[in-house]
Amino acid sequence: MSWETVIGLEIHVQLSTKSKLFSGGSTEFGAESNTHVDLVDMGLPGVLPVANKEAFYKAIRFGLATGAEINQESSFDRKNYFYPDLPKGYQITQMTKPIVEKGSIKIATDESERVINITRAHLEEDAGKSIHDLFEGKTGVDLNRAGTPLLEIVSEPEISNAKEAVAYFKAIRQLVIFLDICDGNMAQGSMRCDVNVSVRKSGNKDLGTRAELKNINSFKFIEKAINYEIDRQIRVIESGESVVQETRLYDSEKNETRSMRSKEEANDYRYFPCPDLLPVVISDKELKDIKDNLPELPEEKRKRYIKEIGLEESEAKIISSSKTMANMFEDASSKTNDAKLVAKWLVGDISALLNKDNIDIEESNLTSENFGKLIERISDNTISGKIAKSVLEDAWENGTDVDEIIKTKGLVQIQDESILEEIAMKIVESNPSQVAAYKSGKDKLFGFFVGQVMKETQGKANPKSVNEILKKLLK
Ligand code: ADP
Ligand code: MG
Repeated sequence: MSWETVIGLEIHVQLSTKSKLFSGGSTEFGAESNTHVDLVDMGLPGVLPVANKEAFYKAIRFGLATGAEINQESSFDRKNYFYPDLPKGYQITQMTKPIVEKGSIKIATDESERVINITRAHLEEDAGKSIHDLFEGKTGVDLNRAGTPLLEIVSEPEISNAKEAVAYFKAIRQLVIFLDICDGNMAQGSMRCDVNVSVRKSGNKDLGTRAELKNINSFKFIEKAINYEIDRQIRVIESGESVVQETRLYDSEKNETRSMRSKEEANDYRYFPCPDLLPVVISDKELKDIKDNLPELPEEKRKRYIKEIGLEESEAKIISSSKTMANMFEDASSKTNDAKLVAKWLVGDISALLNKDNIDIEESNLTSENFGKLIERISDNTISGKIAKSVLEDAWENGTDVDEIIKTKGLVQIQDESILEEIAMKIVESNPSQVAAYKSGKDKLFGFFVGQVMKETQGKANPKSVNEILKKLLK
């Protein structure tokens, strides 16, 4: 029997506004518990929420960038449930009229490229945090996060495997970073994701019963949790039982998912329009202003890099897919006027290091400024390409300033032709048999002489000069 997987993602993106969705409380991460809590966030009676315009503008940027419909009139609903970190007893969200509907985003895996449709993106407030490990036998509540604006981005159930789900998540992450609406910081929980997974017999049109995997916060775990869950569901069905619609928790230590609770239905939450908030109306002028001020997005960058700068398609794709890398590319190119050299390093050595360490460029020690210096020193002939590799490794490992590395390790390229001539002459004189063989037609031996000069100079000779000098000497 062959099976097909269907996946839909709900991604919670923490919008990078200064204050909360309905209060003046600060959204800053990492403050002492319960110090960024306004009366509204505490859910005290008699205080009223006021919607944060900036959160709407950020949500609209996302909508425009995904070709979605923007609802110029949207509204808030209450989703009722009890939890200690939700003092009001309800979450304010957008159920019936979300700000954004019907968008799409392009994703790419090693195998294919495709478009994933986005059902909706709505604004809602985050809850606080329950702290279980701080007080013996008690649970603490930290309301700093309560009321932080979230944009919940809901995909259609049309992602077909774990790799695609990760690619989708990454594409959304890069887009919100490009749009400057979220910092994309996974470790701090700025992006979190619920993964809905079901399986069905190949060719079947109806969707299977899904399980929802809660709050997975790394690319690696998204992939692992989905693959575990697919296997589990197939096993359940093949043993003659049915998959239960439920919420499951992924345990990254055991690499398994476990049932948390049966899946609640929308009507369990007793949604109703929030009487404290009027519908929010976005004017044509506001919408136009946001549209006019959208930054250049990955797709546009990719096209421009190919058409105007002459990069290869594959180079343009890699560089434009991350804001940090695109910025590094643009900064270093403008400094050195050698965009192709910059691209070569980003796509070659830098990408290889990223792969080796399995990190994103944002997490590396290499700053854009330091990378720019490296390229500058190559293009002004201070160091050779070969030496540059070792300089890069040092800067990569330790974050040391490129000029500092070149200075302390004495790596400046030997430009002085007379010094190089002297060394080359010595090598030619001490290898008479190779010289004879070369002269009798063994052209390949030329590389041997170049290599010897490089060895003698510890790689610091300018390769171009060495070639010219040796050609003359061995004529
Ligand atoms: P909720 O999970 O809040 O009840 P929805 O029913 O709208 O909300 O579904 C949320 C997500 O689940 C969406 O991303 C959707 O694509 C996905 N989804 C819905 N049904 C299935 C299914 N049978 N298999 C996989 N994903 C599904
Ligand atoms: Mg859900």
